[in-house]
Amino acid sequence: MSVSFQSVVTRRLLRIAVSLVFSVNFLSSGLANAAAPMVTSQAPGYYRTHLGAFEVTVLSDGTASRDVDKIMHPGELVRQAIVDSHEHLPIELSINNYLINTGKQLVLVDTGAGELFGPHAGGLLIRHLKAAGYQPEQVDAVLLTHIHGDHSGGLAIGGQRLFPNATVYVDRRDSEFWLGESARLAHPEKSTTFRQSHQTMDPYVVAGKLKSFDGATQLFPGIRSVPAYGHTPGHSAYLIESQGQRLMLWGDTVHVAEIQFSEPTVSIEYDVDHDAAVISRQRLFADAARDGYLLGSAHISFPGLGHIRKQKDKDDSYVWAPAPYQSLRSAQ
Ligand SMILES: [Zn+2]
Repeated sequence: MSVSFQSVVTRRLLRIAVSLVFSVNFLSSGLANAAAPMVTSQAPGYYRTHLGAFEVTVLSDGTASRDVDKIMHPGELVRQAIVDSHEHLPIELSINNYLINTGKQLVLVDTGAGELFGPHAGGLLIRHLKAAGYQPEQVDAVLLTHIHGDHSGGLAIGGQRLFPNATVYVDRRDSEFWLGESARLAHPEKSTTFRQSHQTMDPYVVAGKLKSFDGATQLFPGIRSVPAYGHTPGHSAYLIESQGQRLMLWGDTVHVAEIQFSEPTVSIEYDVDHDAAVISRQRLFADAARDGYLLGSAHISFPGLGHIRKQKDKDDSYVWAPAPYQSLRSAQ
């Protein structure tokens, strides 16, 4: 009797002890959660995917907020599209860059803004490149969709080439326009862009590391340029192709997805030639909707990958379909 009485008491005491411990743990974990400091930074901005035998890493340079209704035309149409999308002005524009590892070469398409947008916008490319497992010295080639601060600005800081082993490729219409004398004299209103072009491109020119190509050109196996002139004189897309899979990196063909897919004639004041930019956009939209290849867009929300389709019963109007997010667990 006394043994079983003792064991009953022991079991009860044990139960009380366990529930006390549980309560204390529960309370303390609740308190710990309540006291956790907020963490306001993002995860490193890179996104990995594959295209045939190629590895593609989208590298964010960060974002820049813009009152796009003031720099795009017609502004009222842009403002209404932002309101209808339940967003607000200024909107954050992503600055996306694309790193292609072909297995033989490491090719970077665009370089972000570097230090040109100041300390609060852009400038994160190198940090994210390293976070993604690469070093700037490993980059063999930089392909520029065009020369503009948010695409070529990250080439050099303080006159030093950030990609010391890379050759820079750009359509000759852009290098002649932005680095030559005649356009600079003819367009005093773009003096900042001309100055910044020299600031970030000249170190490569001096080192003999700038190669200009002329229109549609096969640059590397599986990588060729596609003229998309208008936004700048030599604005180019790059078609990446491996094992029958295709990715078109089309630079500044679209600045604001909320309006320009449904209304491709909406243009931005940074266009050197508005009419030519609209024609290029319409042609690229029609080709991409027909052929169904993947698109990589410099300013659509990171990672800016997706497809487009024609909008039914409406001519010259399209819909953007962001590519499904992929975790790549099988590759780990
Ligand atoms: Zn841009």
